[in-house]
Formats: sequence, structure tokens, C-alpha cells
Amino acid sequence: MISKNKTLSDLGETGIIRLIQGKSPHELPSYVKKGIDDDCAVLETASNRVLLVTTDTLIEGIHFTGRTISAEALGWKALAVNISDIAAMGGAQQTAFLSIALRPDSQASFLESFMAGFNALAGKTGVVLAGGDTVESPSFAAITITLLGDCLPEHVVYRSGARAGDDVWVTGPLGNAAAGLFLLQNKEAGAPSEYDALVRAHQKPMPLFKLGRALAEGGLVHAMIDISDGISKDLGHVCEQSGVGAVLEAASIPLSSDLSRLAAEMGKNPLDWALHGGEDYALLFTASPADKAKIESLTAKLSGSPATRVGAIVREDGISLVYHEGKVPLEPCGYLHFSKPRE
Ligand SMILES: [Mg+2]
Repeated sequence: MISKNKTLSDLGETGIIRLIQGKSPHELPSYVKKGIDDDCAVLETASNRVLLVTTDTLIEGIHFTGRTISAEALGWKALAVNISDIAAMGGAQQTAFLSIALRPDSQASFLESFMAGFNALAGKTGVVLAGGDTVESPSFAAITITLLGDCLPEHVVYRSGARAGDDVWVTGPLGNAAAGLFLLQNKEAGAPSEYDALVRAHQKPMPLFKLGRALAEGGLVHAMIDISDGISKDLGHVCEQSGVGAVLEAASIPLSSDLSRLAAEMGKNPLDWALHGGEDYALLFTASPADKAKIESLTAKLSGSPATRVGAIVREDGISLVYHEGKVPLEPCGYLHFSKPRE
């Protein structure tokens, strides 16, 4: 029994998922095309289409605080992170279920503002709220959204499709959300308005729902994931699921000028935000080098700027980061739930 005398901290997020998987039936019914281990579950429906299902929970004190995000932005973001998962599988977002746990003394205006943010993004993306649950919480607020999406089975893009020789692409820039969070958490040091774009990247990310779907329908990508935990961790998921490794070029990681300027001012390494920061909700995908031109033009058309080729998939396990001076192994340093505090 792996869990004897162990806490959830000892297991870590991956260990907890493995424990749940180990306690579940090994044989899934044939309509479950994908269960645990990707951005969405994929369920075959009677009409030869698949239903994509994703769920995300935001907990006060872990994912947000009143100091770093408004109720309106929180409503937007709670839906955005789910739409991003549907986009990462190549599907079309459709129906949402919202479960919300709040203290009884919470202001009604908090919920009104939350719903205004939720509905603003739902309106832009065609998402319909179809149900959920409301419960009382004794302390922290918790928000869970389950989102359903639709896709043809042959268009679903899994994390497991990367092949040696593929290019690795990201929509960019990366790290803006982490830099925005840094500014919000260090407000006493002053958050000049010139960095509003960074703060907005943290608070109101725009999921790339048109692009994810177009890449999938065009048959251009072999594996795809959205960058929620940082490229170091999310590319790690793709490599692990695909049984491959990757080489990333440090100089190719797309950085915004705002991010570079803030990092220089604060004495930070901008790559730390870009590689490990997370919450960018950009798309990372792999594709054949032969499709480079098509990918550049499609991504420019649907996300405003062309995606950036940041490296390649290789046969050998692990991810390495190549600098001018040489290469180093890139360890996943994205946010790890249930990890012990650093000592
Ligand atoms: Mg995801």
C-alpha cells in the first residue's frame, strides 16, 4: 500500500492522481476514449462525435486572493482556464456547470461581479451556463467549473502524439501572467501602470479557442497542451505521455518587451517567469517541420502574432535547455499542488 503513513504532501499532486487511478477500474468502457491524463476526458457519443469534459477548481488562498484579483476578473478567469483546456484538445466549448462555495457573510455584490466577468467571456465564446451547485463554506471560497466541449473523434489532439523530429511551438509571449502576479504581490513596491498588460495577463487571460480548434481541424499538430503550470512542467506532460524527450532553445522562448524590462528593473531572470511561471494559457504543440509555414500563417491569423518554434522533440527522455554556452537539464518547476513548502 503506497499510502501507508504518508501525507498528501508526501505523495504530491502526481502521486495523488496515481492513487486515484490505481483505485479505479483498469478497463474503461469503450466510449471513454481518454480518462485521466490529458487536458480533457474524451467520451464518444452516439452520433459519432466525442464530448470533451474538463473541470477546474480555484481555491481562495491557493489560486487567488482578494488582493490580486477582482471578483469580476475571477469570474472571467475561472471560465477561461476551462475553455483553454477544451482548446488544447481541439474542441469547441459549449456548456458550463458552475459550483461555488462561499462564506454566508460574503457580499452579494461579489457574486454579481463574479457573474459579470463569467458572462462577459461566456458571451464572447458561446458558452452556456447549464447548472451547478451553490454551497456554504465555513472559510475559504472555492469555485469549480466543469465545461463540456464538442469535437469530431479524428480531430481530438492528445498530449500523447508527439514524435521524435517534431518541432515544438508555443503561442507567446510566455511569462507575462507570472510577472503580473509578481507585480500584484509586491504592490507596496509600486506597480506602475506601464505594466498593465502584465497584470491583465494574470487576471484576465484570453483562451485561444479559435486557434486550438483550427490547428486540430487542419490536422497540423501531433500533440497539444495549454500552458497552465509553466512550459517546464507542461512540456514534461507531453513528453511523458508521448514517450519522448525535448530540446528547448533558451534564446527562442518568446518574451514581451514589458517582461524583459520589468525583469531588468527587478534584477530577475525573465526566463524563470517564462519557463516556470504558468497561467499563461498559451498553447504548446508539436508538429512536423514540413508544416512550419502553414503554422506560422494560421497562428498569425488567429492569435494576432505567429507562434514561435522553441525547440524539437527528441527520442531520448528528459527536457534539456540549450544556451549559447551549452545545455542543462530542465526540471519541472511549475506550480506543484501538495508539494511541501521549500526549506
Ligand atoms: Mg490543461
